Amino acid sequence: MTTAEFERMVRKALEQLPEEIARALDNVDVVVEDLATREQLVGTGIEEGAHLLGLYEGIPLTDRYGYDMVLPDKITLFQGAIEAICDSDEEMVREIRDTVVHEVAHHFGIDDDRLEEMER
Ligand SMILES: [Zn+2]
Repeated sequence: MTTAEFERMVRKALEQLPEEIARALDNVDVVVEDLATREQLVGTGIEEGAHLLGLYEGIPLTDRYGYDMVLPDKITLFQGAIEAICDSDEEMVREIRDTVVHEVAHHFGIDDDRLEEMER
């Protein structure tokens, strides 16, 4: 799959977010990279770049006191890692959607522990 095709899937996943969620997104960029770098793995609890599907970096909406002139939040989808665990386009669509939703949840201030509880 080319990066352009992958990016199209990511855009679609964003468009499929519930409208009130999509509207509430504030100052956040969504980018595609191949695999996570060493620096990006710091603090994730994941050792191998190949195992990190997505990453949220930024200041969650819930922590934005006196928020002004700040670089946008960044959500990164790691194409290489997602491709490695998917056997079909359908799986890719599902995995991208799940990852986008997960990282968007972080934008809204929901941490991994809470997400894990909700996903159970
Ligand atoms: Zn997470």
